[in-house]
Amino acid sequence: MRVHTINCGTMRPRWLRGTASGLIGARCLLIESERGLVLVDTGFGLADVADGGAALGPMLRFGARPALDPAETAIRRIEALGLDPGDVRHIVLTHLDADHAGGLRDFPRALVHLHAREHAAMTRPTWRERPRYRAGQWAHGPAWVLHEEAGEPWHGFAAVREPLPGLPVLMVPLHGHTRGHTGVAVETERGWLLHVGDALFWRAELGPGRAGDAVRRARGGPGTLPRSLGAAQRALAEDHAAWAHNRARLRRLVRDHPGQIEVVTSHDPVP
Ligand SMILES: [Zn+2]
Repeated sequence: MRVHTINCGTMRPRWLRGTASGLIGARCLLIESERGLVLVDTGFGLADVADGGAALGPMLRFGARPALDPAETAIRRIEALGLDPGDVRHIVLTHLDADHAGGLRDFPRALVHLHAREHAAMTRPTWRERPRYRAGQWAHGPAWVLHEEAGEPWHGFAAVREPLPGLPVLMVPLHGHTRGHTGVAVETERGWLLHVGDALFWRAELGPGRAGDAVRRARGGPGTLPRSLGAAQRALAEDHAAWAHNRARLRRLVRDHPGQIEVVTSHDPVP
């Protein structure tokens, strides 16, 4: 089994203006397995690029300012690796925000694994949730495979499901950023790789300090996190208390397992 980390959508968020590069990615995992290719999140897709991001909605289009480069889409990234996009059998989504689900249309034959709570949020959104879900991204009718919180515990995270029997891929519910937001853990030869989606925005948040420290540092103290990060996370979280609770759990997880768990976030700065 081989795992690639691929950036499927560089963005230049307004809230990062004036910081180091000002650029963030939309990181996905591509797993080469004996059961075909497995994609974790999809970034932006060719249809998002083709219409210049018009269907992404103003919050994402003008707030995050995606570059929408066709070469960055998952389908083109897979081709560039010399692999066949038709071999993508499974997609595991952390959540359905438009910068994570845009590529679904480029893999219409894949089974799409999602937490049932996220699917419910998409089908029956509250007024607050409504702007973030872009129905055009799944108008082709993906083959959803919904997962409830059940299964084996993993490093103290109680509710984990093995969505792909036989493959060392786990869905680790990390609700808060959205109603059914989920991390994805993959066991590799070097240990566990944990894609936390938007449960953290930047890996720098895993540094020493108490939960909420990123927000305090963001208010002008020393540190590597930009002033605007805490405010952006708060604004984008569906349930900020749950989000902050899960970030604290992730910090403990990494602290208590040094060198054993490598964390990938969707939106760490690029390059
Ligand atoms: Zn995101």
